[in-house]
Amino acid sequence: MPSVINDSCVKCGACASICPVSAMHDAGSQLVIDPDTCIDCGACIAECPQGAISNDSEATAEAIKFNAEKAATCPSVAD
Ligand code: SF4
Ligand code: SF4
Repeated sequence: MPSVINDSCVKCGACASICPVSAMHDAGSQLVIDPDTCIDCGACIAECPQGAISNDSEATAEAIKFNAEKAATCPSVAD
């Protein structure tokens, strides 16, 4: 059950700096999480000042699809 970023993201980079598996990718207007890389540690959820990250059980279908599709094509965010 990977974490998912929604469109409240302001690209502050805080989540990417603490993710142990570098699961964040830059989708232009926001960061997204690669569901195949995320190990569901949950650390990024508490780290986000915007409350933009949730477990996919609480995310919209649109956000889940957007994260998966963009993560597959957009560059990883190096901390
Ligand atoms: S839940 Fe953990 S592994 Fe998954 S994106 Fe957030 S910090 Fe990275
Ligand atoms: S911590 Fe939140 S606002 Fe900052 S880049 Fe990550 S998802 Fe976006």
